[in-house]
Amino acid sequence: MNNSDQLFTADLHCDTIHRILQGADFSRRNEIGHLDLPRLIEGGIDLQVFACFTESFIEAKDRVPLVHRMLDGLHRTVEAHGEKVALARTSSEAARNRAAGKISAVFSIENGLVLNDNLDTLRQFYERGVRSLTLTHNVSSAWCISSADEHPAFDGLTAFGREVVRMMDELGMIVDLSHAAPSAVAAVLEIATRPVIASHSCVRALCDHHRNLTDEQIRGIAATGGMVGINSGVISTVPRRWHHSVASSSRAWAAMARCMASRNM
Ligand SMILES: [Zn+2]
Repeated sequence: MNNSDQLFTADLHCDTIHRILQGADFSRRNEIGHLDLPRLIEGGIDLQVFACFTESFIEAKDRVPLVHRMLDGLHRTVEAHGEKVALARTSSEAARNRAAGKISAVFSIENGLVLNDNLDTLRQFYERGVRSLTLTHNVSSAWCISSADEHPAFDGLTAFGREVVRMMDELGMIVDLSHAAPSAVAAVLEIATRPVIASHSCVRALCDHHRNLTDEQIRGIAATGGMVGINSGVISTVPRRWHHSVASSSRAWAAMARCMASRNM
């Protein structure tokens, strides 16, 4: 399946750098976690987006150094596996990597809180190879409302939030709308001049969870030329840590089946 002329397979989100920094060997098939080099090859993946995720409770002063540590780890990992994996900062680099039989590694950041409300930080991350930013996570920042926020302090994006989106468009960074509240999604779709994505979201029509996208949002993202990456784990209304932590696909599908059954589907 890999390297067919027609099919280019991309996975838009993983948290593998956390495992690597905890000592997981990327070059071997691991018992814990969903992703490593053998499984990327077996899965026929042409491009993998590696997210540097930062929890919202991390203190402001520690956020930027933490992201840099994750980026150091990602750069080291790519360099150590240079025969099989190469960094992609542009679409032409991704095409070149594929022609050379290599998997493209794209770096992203999950949780715009790490910018500490500073556009220079965004530029700094761009210069280190980061090409996508998930604007928010489960806690709203001072400039972007999270889908988990039941009492939003403002509507979607502030003026600074719009600045972030504009600068990302200027630099050539992909705006990632997963975790964003509907008001933030709408604000981004209004001002985005380049394709936007939702790297790991599911479908609200199938399961009414705040992390899932409505048909209108999916159409809006598609209209920018962007795309939606569907979680292989499940985002359901079944109480659990609903993503990043699905123990097995059979459990995920059981949860999905329960979710759908509860909605007479
Ligand atoms: Zn996430």
